[in-house]
Amino acid sequence: MSDETIFALSSGGTRAGIAVVRLSGPGAAGALSHLTGAAPPAARRMSRATFCDPKSGETIDQGLAVWFPAPASFTGEDVAELHVHGGRAVVGAVLDALAAIPALRVAEPGEFTRRAFEHGKLDLTAAEGLADLINAETEAQRRQALRQMEGELGRLYGGWHSVLVGVMARLEATIDFSDEDLPGDVDEDVRRDVLDLDAAIAAHVRDDRRGERLRDGVHLAIVGPPNAGKSSLLNLLARRDAAIVAETAGTTRDIIEVHLDLGGYPLVVADSAGLRATANRVEDEGVRRALRRARDADLKLAVFDGTIWPETDGRTAELVDGRTIVVVNKVDLGRPPPPLTVAGRPALPVSALTGEGIEELLAVLEGEVAECCLSSAAPLLTRTRHRAALEECRGALARYLEAGAAELAAEDLRLAARALGRITGRVDVEDILDVIFRDFCIGK
Ligand code: GDP
Repeated sequence: MSDETIFALSSGGTRAGIAVVRLSGPGAAGALSHLTGAAPPAARRMSRATFCDPKSGETIDQGLAVWFPAPASFTGEDVAELHVHGGRAVVGAVLDALAAIPALRVAEPGEFTRRAFEHGKLDLTAAEGLADLINAETEAQRRQALRQMEGELGRLYGGWHSVLVGVMARLEATIDFSDEDLPGDVDEDVRRDVLDLDAAIAAHVRDDRRGERLRDGVHLAIVGPPNAGKSSLLNLLARRDAAIVAETAGTTRDIIEVHLDLGGYPLVVADSAGLRATANRVEDEGVRRALRRARDADLKLAVFDGTIWPETDGRTAELVDGRTIVVVNKVDLGRPPPPLTVAGRPALPVSALTGEGIEELLAVLEGEVAECCLSSAAPLLTRTRHRAALEECRGALARYLEAGAAELAAEDLRLAARALGRITGRVDVEDILDVIFRDFCIGK
């Protein structure tokens, strides 16, 4: 256990009804007594408390205190929570009073959660789930994060790790007792288990990045010629003036991003420069970025100008593929002649001005976005860190399957198990701890 006691404001920014200051470490009880002038209250019950400045004796605030003696606390250490009024001066005075107590110091970002991990309260995937839960902006993100925090991914990876450890134990037995009779053909059994495990990991990794997309947001690029109404459509989707709508062609030179919540799924919409060849270098750069963005996006919204339909912009038409939603805009100015298709994809008639067809567009968009993130019941891979470790594990398994000598094979299996163990934090994790916990806010 750490001998340092840390504290921080664990609730959000000040000027709120209530603020929660949390302490963790061996000095938590002493600090609580110092501020309240009494012994810590009954464990895990809220008690009224008067918080005083230990130096001057002046009352800072009336509030509530909760005492969580180790090990039944979030961090596994002695933890105290001070619930005070959420005013800037109140919180400032409480934090100052705590800072004046020797052996207490302000917590670093994520330090409470890091201590929880170090005391075995949660594994790394659960800690990451907790970080995602705090950052979740939509319902689907919240659900995925909660499942991960509750240990769904940890159990999956931990289960695979156990399978490998079992396999390794059997293999060790063939090395140690090779002269004696072992039941059945151990090598063949082991091989089959490794093949099964590899197939399970392969299926999990081959997920079309659904879990990562849900975590990061599905990226939609709006593409189309200048003046087709891309910015107007984005504004309509965002229901606020995010992009500058202007009547002169080629005003959207840079990429504008808007984060939307579409039926609980996170969508990041990028409006980019109209696709046209220009003599203007700034605009050319904008077009280059727009094309790159369109290439990297999960989905595209291709916007064509209905007033010149069926003439379509060639560069935009070239971008239309299976992951593109096509719209013909400005239908308020006249019905575009059918058939409404581009590159074999049906186009939706819309008007960014009157809102006509927008409900249909949103419904189609929502369906596509959900499909980008939706999973079967199986837990989804949510981070590049996990993906890299799983690939590494599969690499080692493949080497094992090719290797001849049992001694070498055992080493490959050890490497595979170690790669899996690193995801949940079973082995050599020091190097990745900082990366994971620094993403937290202070007080968590
Ligand atoms: P962008 O260059 O593709 O982003 O196009 P803008 O959104 O800037 O729109 C270009 C011009 O077309 C602006 O004057 C808009 O007001 C107008 N516009 C956009 N959508 C519609 C529409 O559905 N109907 C009509 N009549 N005008 C539109």
